[in-house]
Amino acid sequence: MVLGCLALNASYEPLTMVPMRRALRLVIDGKAEIVEADQDRLVRSERLTMPRPAVIRLTKFIHVPRRFRRQVTNTFLFARDHYRCQYCHRHITELKPRESLTRDHLIPLSRGGTNEWTNVVAACSPCNTRKGNRLPEEIGMHPLTHPVEPHFVHLSWAVRRLTPTQARYIKTFYGSEVLHHLEQLEHRAPRVAAH
Ligand SMILES: [Zn+2]
Repeated sequence: MVLGCLALNASYEPLTMVPMRRALRLVIDGKAEIVEADQDRLVRSERLTMPRPAVIRLTKFIHVPRRFRRQVTNTFLFARDHYRCQYCHRHITELKPRESLTRDHLIPLSRGGTNEWTNVVAACSPCNTRKGNRLPEEIGMHPLTHPVEPHFVHLSWAVRRLTPTQARYIKTFYGSEVLHHLEQLEHRAPRVAAH
């Protein structure tokens, strides 16, 4: 398990998980303050010793760049689709040794499709090959769920584990539905995804 620290914006909006070293750097440089710390665990730097931060808050408000929301990496794409082929519905753990989970474009790139969230789905390699460069209606292959752009919160924590303290902040700001969704993703993520 990778230890992360939940970073909040100055407005207390949860932003992302940052590695512990980065969190400490931000605190030491005065760019963030510790909101919640694990009092039982101490971390030491060259100059000081402090409780290990679990939640930090940036001292200056930052705007989340729109570009971030447009990035579709396979890590997040597979998490959004619950690691399941959207055509044959097999989970990544059900694939045969030589098969893999891939990115399929509903409208193929060769026919003007894009890499936007609404045009990409997780597909096993045989289904992706079978669909080829055809449109869903041309071959009668329709995804299990209509692909949508996930909330950026889902992207940030789709493959990370939250501590109960950190989860409390997510719940306070985004509601229990978002938290529940994140916990489901965490629960369904196969172990290989953690590497
Ligand atoms: Zn499939």
